[in-house]
Amino acid sequence: MTATTPSAPLGDDVGRDLVRGVCETLGAAADTLGDLDRRAGDGDFGTNIRTALALVDENIAADDPQTYRQWLTALFMGWLGVGGTSGPLFGMFFRDLARAADDAPPTAAQLAEALAAGQATVQRYGEAEVGDKTMIDALEPAVTALRGALEDGREAADALRAAEEAAVQGARSTARITARRGRASYVGDASQGVIDPGAAAVALVIGAARAAVAGGGSPDTSWIA
Ligand code: ADP
Ligand code: MG
Repeated sequence: MTATTPSAPLGDDVGRDLVRGVCETLGAAADTLGDLDRRAGDGDFGTNIRTALALVDENIAADDPQTYRQWLTALFMGWLGVGGTSGPLFGMFFRDLARAADDAPPTAAQLAEALAAGQATVQRYGEAEVGDKTMIDALEPAVTALRGALEDGREAADALRAAEEAAVQGARSTARITARRGRASYVGDASQGVIDPGAAAVALVIGAARAAVAGGGSPDTSWIA
């Protein structure tokens, strides 16, 4: 495949591939992520993911999305239909991704700015900073790495690979942190040694975006346990 520069639109099917990839990857990891939330939270994250994905499937069946924005809308509307903290936060995050471009596929630069907007939204509502053991611990380094790689002139899939690596590293680092936000904060030191499931989920989402842009290759999930 040809390399995509930051200012060139991503492939026509990037919205479809991104949403399908996110759903497949999170669906396959839902039990593992739910387990993490049982060990360092209240245990509902796996169920919340499954509920969201079922709603996304319903939206896709009902709306038959065609454009990037329509695919991302099916995704964010599904997540907004779920309770817990993660439902609204992921819902608003994916809504910002839906706004990356009009109906045409976004450029890598637009996708990077949409991810940054999503991060800002999650922080505005959730008030988490890096180090609080939340999804922000994966999202912040991913956005920084993606912007940096694009500024360095790296092509889209390569830049997203850097973002995925940064997100995985950020998610893994949460195992060393005692949670200060979300329900994991209620269990205090019991969250030590456990990766934050929301941060792991963000790393999988970035990995699914990388795979969608690169035209294949599911995110590695072997580091989540
Ligand atoms: P709840 O914390 O309400 O049980 P879920 O189990 O559905 O919600 O989701 C848990 C994940 O949500 C956590 O792993 C964390 O990454 C994320 N999260 C929780 N609170 C916040 C927050 N204030 N800001 C950002 N992310 C958060
Ligand atoms: Mg929970």
